[in-house]
Amino acid sequence: MKNFLKGIINKVRNITLITFLFLFLSPLVNSEVMKNPFFTEYETNFKIPPFSQINEEHFMPAFIKGMEVHNEEINDIIENKEEPSFENIIVAMERSGSLLSRVSAVFFNLSGSTTNPKIQEIEKEISPKLSSHYDSISLNPEIFKKVKILWESIDNYDLSLEERKILEETYKRFVRSGALLEGSDKKRYAELNQDITKLSVQFSQNLLAETNDFEIILDQADLAGLPSDIVDLAKLEAENKFNKNKDDKYKDKYVFTVQRSSMYPFLTYSTRRDLREKLYKGYIQRGDNNNEYDNKKITSKIASLRVEKANILGFESHAHYVLDNTMAKTPQAVYGLLNQLWAPALKRAKNELREMQILANEEGNNFEIASWDWWHYAEKVRKDKYDLDEEEIKEYFTLDNTIDGIFKTSNKLFGLTFEEKFDLDLYHPDARVWEVKDKDGSHIGLYIGDYYTRSSKRGGAWMSSFKSQSNFDGKERPIIVNVCNFPPPSKDKPSLLSFEHVTTLFHEFGHGLHGLLTNTNYKSLSGTAVSRDFVEFPSQVLEHWASEPELLKSYAKHYETGEVISDELIEKMQNASKFNQGFANTEYLAASFLDMDWHTLTTTELQDTNSFEEKSLKKIGLIDEIVSRYRTTYFQHIFTHSYSAGYYSYIWAAVLDSDAFAAFKDSGDVFNEDLANKYREFILEKGGTEDPMELYRSFKGDDPDISALLEDRGLD
Ligand SMILES: [Zn+2]
Repeated sequence: MKNFLKGIINKVRNITLITFLFLFLSPLVNSEVMKNPFFTEYETNFKIPPFSQINEEHFMPAFIKGMEVHNEEINDIIENKEEPSFENIIVAMERSGSLLSRVSAVFFNLSGSTTNPKIQEIEKEISPKLSSHYDSISLNPEIFKKVKILWESIDNYDLSLEERKILEETYKRFVRSGALLEGSDKKRYAELNQDITKLSVQFSQNLLAETNDFEIILDQADLAGLPSDIVDLAKLEAENKFNKNKDDKYKDKYVFTVQRSSMYPFLTYSTRRDLREKLYKGYIQRGDNNNEYDNKKITSKIASLRVEKANILGFESHAHYVLDNTMAKTPQAVYGLLNQLWAPALKRAKNELREMQILANEEGNNFEIASWDWWHYAEKVRKDKYDLDEEEIKEYFTLDNTIDGIFKTSNKLFGLTFEEKFDLDLYHPDARVWEVKDKDGSHIGLYIGDYYTRSSKRGGAWMSSFKSQSNFDGKERPIIVNVCNFPPPSKDKPSLLSFEHVTTLFHEFGHGLHGLLTNTNYKSLSGTAVSRDFVEFPSQVLEHWASEPELLKSYAKHYETGEVISDELIEKMQNASKFNQGFANTEYLAASFLDMDWHTLTTTELQDTNSFEEKSLKKIGLIDEIVSRYRTTYFQHIFTHSYSAGYYSYIWAAVLDSDAFAAFKDSGDVFNEDLANKYREFILEKGGTEDPMELYRSFKGDDPDISALLEDRGLD
């Protein structure tokens, strides 16, 4: 992103000096006179957005115009007097809104990776406008009427499998948003939506307040066991709070909070059991303190309203409604999987607990391990049993080596090649771009990597796109981006990644391949536009290759000596991957059960939140030493984000990725050509054009089996 003046200078080449002076002297009319790069199709190589010509000033006018044009296009579809056809409804809808997509793709990518106060301002203003714009289309009764006619006579048209699927998805989207409702049901449905939204916002604000309010303020004497970098962060936290609040209680102190980045290191290293208890209880009591920020009534109310909403739409429960549109399809299928995993996970967790108890007793303690002790003693077991020096590992994983690793994996599997481009305009100096080519040298798409952490980037790592793939109006090839938060190089060292970072890059690149290799006609079904419990499959499966010895030997090389990683170190890494898996799976599965229990309720009667939760967790036999990964009162995934009856998705996809990778392993060649071709053809190319279970069967030749997952996680 360039600033305003640079934007003008960039355009000087194309305009006369007089215009330039005019622009320069009368800033008020600039935005109208200057050409807005979003208003026309990009005339750049590969149709990459012309980043250096784009200014913050271009966004708002393009959004407004984009919505206007989109509305006109939708109106044209409604007013078209011709006989309804796939072409004049579905294809026309698919074609509509291109200006809006163009500006949205650039804007929302930049607001995630390169934000600034101006972008934040625009985001605040445009987000509600966009959501009501899209609502007005997805709830438009006139459009629905036409779609319904088409749907009801689907067999009269000669449609391909993909065309049938896009018609079905469009019809279902309308119906799932209440398009078939009439009269009082319709009115009640709208009220329910509004009430749920309001309660969700309140839930989230309460949780934020509870999270920000809790802290422990410590003296130097309370810091026993903590490494110096953790102490430094706590000191900084206290200084920031002192500067902000001018309150002497923070002066020369150390502050820990219930943010995970502050809490987990404390729970892991602090030798002060009393303080671990205090901090952890602060964390698990959030939203359950019987104060103004209490979330108990809100959550039971949301659950009840969701039952009513599902009933109006003809579903037995909220979970039935949500799952109808996924790979799992029914609550029974989800419970079936959770139950299969639960016993072995809990058994392993109990073994882990026993090991920790022995260690604690050997230290001369006579207490029983409690939930707030878990991290501390798990770390001791890890040191004892799986001692792995993270710093030593990092030296083999420079960012460039790891990029080499993901490219080699896709070359060996699919024959792809990557050529870095230095003549394309990008939005930030840290971003890099490669042209991706197929076996036969043909163009597949662009892959942008934006890897280093910076203050203008939000946390985490993700895959996104600047342009989606489609074939229906000529071949559009995708422009995919991976954004990460890896450490930048220092004065004397290149960017060195922890193995967790390495796995993250393989994960995001797995999503990237889904976006790059997709080959569908319509962009609304291309790439990662698949159901929620299927979308993590291509990303998680690629993670398996990251730690595959054959591949490690080809990319993990010491940053100074170039020496290849040793077998001994690889073996240590593989052992360590099973560490604490009993705990991790148990706390995750407990939360998944809790989510499902709330959302398979069939009564609108308000529940007592705590006793409901207690009953739910008791039923599965969760032990006191482990708390569900989320308790109801701070389970944001299911009460504010769209993961209600969906928290199970991660492990659902994990069954697929473990099973798929096991197929490669069992064939004796992790790059087995036949399997790789099928994986590409049925999983990566197909996007959301067919039922995911059918696609999986076509790839693998039979149903997914859970045993590989159990083995991967040490649960067998
Ligand atoms: Zn992912």
